[in-house]
Amino acid sequence: MTFLNADLHCHSVVSDGTLTPEALAARAKANGVELWALTDHDEIGGQHRARAAAHDQGLAWLSGVEISVTFAGHTVHIVGLGFDADDAALREGLARTRGGRGERAREMAEGLARVGIRGAYEGALKYVGNPELISRTHFARYLVETGVCKDTYEVFRKYLTEGKPGFVPHRWATLGDAVGWITRAGGLAVIAHPARYSFTPTEEYALFSEFKAHGGRGVEVVTGSHSSAEVVTYARMAQEFGLAASRGSDFHSPDESHTDLGALPPLPGELTPVWDLLQDRVVH
Ligand code: AMP
Ligand code: MN
Ligand code: MN
Ligand code: MN
Repeated sequence: MTFLNADLHCHSVVSDGTLTPEALAARAKANGVELWALTDHDEIGGQHRARAAAHDQGLAWLSGVEISVTFAGHTVHIVGLGFDADDAALREGLARTRGGRGERAREMAEGLARVGIRGAYEGALKYVGNPELISRTHFARYLVETGVCKDTYEVFRKYLTEGKPGFVPHRWATLGDAVGWITRAGGLAVIAHPARYSFTPTEEYALFSEFKAHGGRGVEVVTGSHSSAEVVTYARMAQEFGLAASRGSDFHSPDESHTDLGALPPLPGELTPVWDLLQDRVVH
């Protein structure tokens, strides 16, 4: 297999990234990406712009999304690739998944106010590009702006993760719904950044088994949030479960992200890349 610089995971202003779909496509091109997908959280409103921008840059393109799922009491992200971006059931499912974000954000702000951080809701809103998609990342930017923390990583560690004052538990989509919406819209479902969940080995086995049973076909092996040891671990998991492998930076912002678009190691050679299974869905 010849090396393909595919980057199939990143975020724009349509969710919690800071760049437009057009700026992301230009940055991907400048960084040598050949196949690109924009995977905003719970939202495919940027897909037509992404497709047009990819075309303008001469990038091969796949539709993309990253769906928030609650599994065994934890939040898991499922990436969808190569689906029909006009699919009505997918659109409706995503709209429902986005639904509780406004109320959750108000409760997050209340939690932060209790520890003396005022105005966080209004502050976070300044960073929101899509009114239906207020996320923890927008709060993190506000807390950095106001000097509460030095960077967004510190904000998450101190304020926005389980047990911390700004954390509000949330019920997202089910695993079966997310995989089903993607698959029935003609796409391929992928477990995003599997090393980032705090599952026991038993729970992780259940995630992979149930994901397969629902029709899931891929797993991110090379991502901006995996160490080289984690790449090896999930390459083995891909083989054990008969899953294709994906590759994506999870780029959000030039100021925040450690991994730039396209700046990733290649997939381990023994794996089947997801794009081999999506050849008829790639737009050239
Ligand atoms: P939400 O969908 O509102 O729960 O926000 C999730 C987003 O927050 C993720 O997609 C990341 O962009 C960001 N995020 C989550 N955990 C961390 C962390 N520990 N450090 C930095 N960013 C994080
Ligand atoms: Mn994000
Ligand atoms: Mn994610
Ligand atoms: Mn992501």
